[in-house]
Amino acid sequence: MQQLPIVELSPPQPDVAASAGAEDDAARAKGTYAFISLGCPKNLVDSERMLGALTIDGYALVSNPDGADFVIVNTCGFIESSRQESKSVIHEMLDLKRAGRTRGVIVAGCLPERLGGKLLEEIPEIDHVVGVFGREEITRVADHLIGGMKEQRSVFRPAPIKAMDDRARLRITPKHFAYLKISEGCDRTCTFCSIPMMRGKHVTKPIEMVLEEARELVGDGVRELNIVAQDTTYYGMDLYGEVRLVELLKELEKIEGLDWIRLMYLYPINFTDELIDTIAASTKIIPYLDMPLQHISDPVLKRMQRRVKSAQTIELVTKLRERIPNLVLRTTFVVGFPGETDAQFEELKQFVAETRFQRMGVFTYSLEPDTPAVKLDGHLPEEVKNARRDELMALQQEIAFEFGDSLVGYELDVLIDEQIDETTWLGRTYADAPEIDGNVYVRGEGLEIGKFVPVVIEARQDYDLIGVYEPDDEEEDADEELPEAAATINS
Ligand code: SF4
Repeated sequence: MQQLPIVELSPPQPDVAASAGAEDDAARAKGTYAFISLGCPKNLVDSERMLGALTIDGYALVSNPDGADFVIVNTCGFIESSRQESKSVIHEMLDLKRAGRTRGVIVAGCLPERLGGKLLEEIPEIDHVVGVFGREEITRVADHLIGGMKEQRSVFRPAPIKAMDDRARLRITPKHFAYLKISEGCDRTCTFCSIPMMRGKHVTKPIEMVLEEARELVGDGVRELNIVAQDTTYYGMDLYGEVRLVELLKELEKIEGLDWIRLMYLYPINFTDELIDTIAASTKIIPYLDMPLQHISDPVLKRMQRRVKSAQTIELVTKLRERIPNLVLRTTFVVGFPGETDAQFEELKQFVAETRFQRMGVFTYSLEPDTPAVKLDGHLPEEVKNARRDELMALQQEIAFEFGDSLVGYELDVLIDEQIDETTWLGRTYADAPEIDGNVYVRGEGLEIGKFVPVVIEARQDYDLIGVYEPDDEEEDADEELPEAAATINS
């Protein structure tokens, strides 16, 4: 459930868009639109799908909302702070509309799904709203707006019982990495979480459908696939009556040209030995696992209805570290859950200090209307929640910095994401998920976006690393494993 920063979308090929040809395209289009995608990678996949549909339908994406015929904001509704962020972006776009610099604003995604009709009551100037599962009708809504029809439209559709097709996307991630959504929704009943209310019950995308999408993406230049879902380890249960993640991964591994498969949003239940062995033996499933644990104290886990106990979690983490060489673990925790005592928070701190996750995020508990946790006793003041978050993050910062320091002096394989200037590039080792973790600033010449290069790490700068690339004959065979020193963080 990590949050991504706001993604203000530019046309996918800015160099082309800047050309006279692109201007001609915009002139020939049914209309121009800007798109702002908020929230998590799962929402980004929905954004890409809407962008694909609008492009096929003849609309032209422009980077600046100021002057676009209309603007679409694909929102996040996960917690109060993300809803506030979504609303502030909507108000910003409505200011443009009031100033006559765009004709309309369409609000899509989780915020309308979460608030329903209340959103239009609160912000009546919005032209149209489209819920999460109304995304396939985005072109009709755009036609409505461009056609000058004043009547406000709300497109809400029930969560589908079959997986939606995410192919034919207009991808806005760099060409070499993509998100692959393998299922939608969640069958768990964590008491703090509103996601099932917005995204429905768990719906597995059939293996063949995932593979076709993955092949299409790799054919389009993707070298890193980031597997996303609400509950990745539950994959298959609703469709096949059993978990089929291992089978899916083994098939994905066979795709030629694919280098990295990164697993996100793993739930600590259903993490089978077979899955661990598959990851350990794979040359493509990278040893980076994102497994949101939310808490470690048993009474808190019980009130959260996580259905997993502290001892099981510790056993799983120990097993993962023993069996998967050079494992980098990412997790998230919720602090300030109703009834969380000082002692239970201390237990969490102790666990973080001992386990030394290389990557970690902390949320303060957010009271989500209509979730079971609202009715629990012992809601804590915001100051207490914030203080606990800051304390835990301060501890984590030391651990993360120590991990970064341990990499200095070693040569690591880096996937180049971006060029900053003539001799500086931005890339990532496998220990960094795109747009969530840190980066490596690489000094060097002759590099290429989307290529792996060996980089000697020279220094750490906050959560990032700085390194140098010196070409040699074996650059595509560079060591993809973390050095021994880094492995000590796993012990
Ligand atoms: S596993 Fe729990 S926290 Fe995660 S999406 Fe499902 S209900 Fe929400």
